[in-house]
Amino acid sequence: MTLRIEQLSKSYGHGARALDDVSLTVPAGVFGLLGPNGAGKSTLMRTLATLQQPDSGRVHFGDINVLTQPEQLRRVLGYLPQDFGLYPTMRAAEILDHFATLKGLTVNAERAERVQALLQQVNLWEVRGQRVGGFSGGMRQRLGIAIALIGAPRLLIVDEPTAGLDPAERNRLLDLLTDIAGDALVILSTHIVDDVRDICSHMAILNDGRVVVQGEPAALLQQVRGRLWSKRIAREALDGYRARNDVISTRRSMGMVLLHVYSESNPGDGFTQCEPDLEDVYFHRLR
Ligand code: ADP
Repeated sequence: MTLRIEQLSKSYGHGARALDDVSLTVPAGVFGLLGPNGAGKSTLMRTLATLQQPDSGRVHFGDINVLTQPEQLRRVLGYLPQDFGLYPTMRAAEILDHFATLKGLTVNAERAERVQALLQQVNLWEVRGQRVGGFSGGMRQRLGIAIALIGAPRLLIVDEPTAGLDPAERNRLLDLLTDIAGDALVILSTHIVDDVRDICSHMAILNDGRVVVQGEPAALLQQVRGRLWSKRIAREALDGYRARNDVISTRRSMGMVLLHVYSESNPGDGFTQCEPDLEDVYFHRLR
């Protein structure tokens, strides 16, 4: 099933334009929505999750008109918001059981089976009896995903799930989302470029409420291939290089600065051509 977003706009009071004519086509797989803080990602996620209405625009998920048939969308939706509360003294299995009851799984045996399957899927079966107050950030997120999966959603929206996770937990979470994408369309909002590089088949970059670019990561990389040049320089020299070159990114590297510049031809000056990564695409588009 495809999600089609057409000309979506939303302003908050005081004229802040959070979404400005956003159109996106989201095919099956994991779709990465990248953008800096304030880009409008959460506004878009909440709109897709039917938690708020836009000022204008249309959204369709398959045959469902998301904006006019929100209750139909909710039946096939799983949503993990950026912040969610869990009762710290409750145990993982109890929480899942509670939400499964709310979701209408009232037959005890069926519910127990579903809760067990979900805990196993998100790798929390071993800790099902532990209080969630003692859970790590990654364990909390995986429990959040289990809750979002109770109704076997066709569309799963996860808002910044990897923020603050250590690398091992981040990988676990990304593996889990990849697995889920076999059954559901997954939209992953993030400001971490590597999340998108690692698991997304399609992506878009949002900035200031507008879609800056959308497509397949590999195709977007191809657009800048051959035009990226790098050089390691002393930090003091950075301003001079900035004045002479189209600087895309700077990274600290062994006490120096690794500079990436964009240029159709060899800028000389000791630069060597480099393979672009998604971060280059991201910064190139956000300049
Ligand atoms: P992101 O998730 O990419 O950080 P948001 O959708 O949270 O972006 O925010 C987009 C813009 O809309 C920002 O300028 C933010 O300050 C503003 N904004 C978001 N939510 C509200 C709100 N409830 N009221 C007023 N302004 C908001």
